[in-house]
Amino acid sequence: MPTCAVCGAALPDGTTCQDDFHQFLYWEFEHPDLGQVHHLMVLCYHIQHPHLYSVEGLRGAHELLRQFVATDISPQAMRQQIKEQVDSGNRQHSIRGTDSTRGRYPHKIPWTMHARDVVNGGHSHYVENVQTWAHAIYQSLLSEGILLST
Ligand SMILES: [Zn+2]
Repeated sequence: MPTCAVCGAALPDGTTCQDDFHQFLYWEFEHPDLGQVHHLMVLCYHIQHPHLYSVEGLRGAHELLRQFVATDISPQAMRQQIKEQVDSGNRQHSIRGTDSTRGRYPHKIPWTMHARDVVNGGHSHYVENVQTWAHAIYQSLLSEGILLST
């Protein structure tokens, strides 16, 4: 079965993780209440495809994920926090990956949940599944020693 070269997701029908990402955006457009987890979804997707981030961007994303999981901050509060961070203009590093700086992991992470699992759950379970996805990613990063529990 074909898999995503980056995150290892099984992709049985020839689609890509990027297709799944676009499916999420479409759902959020069709059902505006689903937008409450937009930033969390973007965070999850990018953490599993770390080359989309710069090295600093990936580190910052891990900290945001930790805040979300460890403090049970609501997606709405998190959205506000990300917005403030982005709007502050004080950012010293671009969060986007470029040829000179790309996020990566020292070894392949055996993720237990992928974007495809959220797609398979359908839009009616999107909000809870994105939150489950975030927790699963956090656990994987902890057990792989990428994030240290504090
Ligand atoms: Zn992938």
